[in-house]
Amino acid sequence: MLQLPANVEFILNMLNESGYEAYVVGGCVRDALRGQQPHDWDVCTSCLPEEAVELFEALGYPVLKTGLKHGTITILMDGEGYEVTTFRTDGDYSDHRRPDAVHYTESLLEDLSRRDFTINAMAYNPVLGFVDYYGGQADLEQRVIRCVGDPGQRFNEDALRILRALRFSAVFGYGIDPATENSIRLNKLLLHEISGERIRDELCKILVTENSARLLRRYADIFSVVIPEMEACIGFRQNNPYHLYDVWEHTLCALEESPNDLWVRLTLLFHDIGKPLCYTEDENGVGHFYGHPAVSEQMTRARMRALRFSNREIDTVSQLVRHHDDDVQLSTAYARKLLNRLGGFEQARRLIDVKKADVSAQDHALYHQRTDKLCSFGLILRKIEADSLAFTIKDLTIDGHDLMGIGYEAGPGIGQMLKRLLDEVISGDLPNTKAALIAYAAKHKE
Ligand code: ATP
Ligand code: MG
Repeated sequence: MLQLPANVEFILNMLNESGYEAYVVGGCVRDALRGQQPHDWDVCTSCLPEEAVELFEALGYPVLKTGLKHGTITILMDGEGYEVTTFRTDGDYSDHRRPDAVHYTESLLEDLSRRDFTINAMAYNPVLGFVDYYGGQADLEQRVIRCVGDPGQRFNEDALRILRALRFSAVFGYGIDPATENSIRLNKLLLHEISGERIRDELCKILVTENSARLLRRYADIFSVVIPEMEACIGFRQNNPYHLYDVWEHTLCALEESPNDLWVRLTLLFHDIGKPLCYTEDENGVGHFYGHPAVSEQMTRARMRALRFSNREIDTVSQLVRHHDDDVQLSTAYARKLLNRLGGFEQARRLIDVKKADVSAQDHALYHQRTDKLCSFGLILRKIEADSLAFTIKDLTIDGHDLMGIGYEAGPGIGQMLKRLLDEVISGDLPNTKAALIAYAAKHKE
């Protein structure tokens, strides 16, 4: 028995009473069986979309028709939207990513057979109970991701399913059935057909799971198809006593040590991708990677652009990549300059998280010393925050109007003086009081 929300039960009843089949289906059945609260309840039905619109509008409910072309309508009840989709079969997939046409069917079995994995292909209604043609419940119990039908055919229809399999494996901590896994490896190049944004969405969901590093390690060959820069890192030996691992294994170990923050994790994924390009050996045969943060930053920008991240997201991550190897200094002035450069505490704390994870995946001899230093730096940040110390021009106790008040003319000179005042305040040479700043500005007026 599944406990359905009253509105969902009402929708199923209304469709049933009007002579149609109707079930909850897919992710919600899976999640409910796993003992988790589903985040939405999808209904599927033999009722055609136009008829379902008529039925629920006649009952007085507003219906959104945005998905009508794909057979989906959204019924609004108590301020929430409930999706109802007519049983479908997908037509041919000539481009490995979307069906050429969608056909309606009266058969629930046909609708379930187009779904990706057995655990996602179950339906339920209170009268008939569970409908599970493909062994989804058994696979849930065995904790395994398995394609519905022939894996090769399913991945050829829609190659995104390759990443969806990895994602469900990561999110639930399930294994992947051997036949499905083999087929994933065999068909990985089909991922070239998939758009950047769909890949991005799956990648991000994988990265914020507990299993992200394990998954990236096991399926490095698959992830290298969507992030080709990774390939050169795999097995790239560093030949340096500070480094325990090859570049890729170091990346994974750092990820394992990181907090669950998408931006920190994306940064760690990309932080060393420039290393293979920067490798040099000194006369003792020791490997170095001078300039790799800047090279990694450029490569990160390019890859994130290809994956259709927003400019803001790209800036956030590439800035952290750029600074991941900076040697922080334990002074308030340095910390305030860094806060200015990074734009605030959130990003500065991410940088500390990145650096902590990075050093934890390096030579253990220096681990405590380096980690202690980063913790001390964190305390300095906290003190700056608690004392509300200035680190941007906005934080100064005077602004451009005050400068005009003492005879500065509108123009670039004002910005220059404010910048200079901030430098003096940050370095501790000038208190951030109105009187002190005005006096300094008056004295240094040209
Ligand atoms: P979640 O919403 O938690 O990510 P979900 O299983 O609900 O998981 P959705 O992407 O919302 O995933 O899709 C709903 C259902 O549609 C899935 O459970 C599955 O049955 C089917 N489905 C979604 N995407 C595909 C696909 N690419 N190929 C085949 N079936 C799919
Ligand atoms: Mg869903």
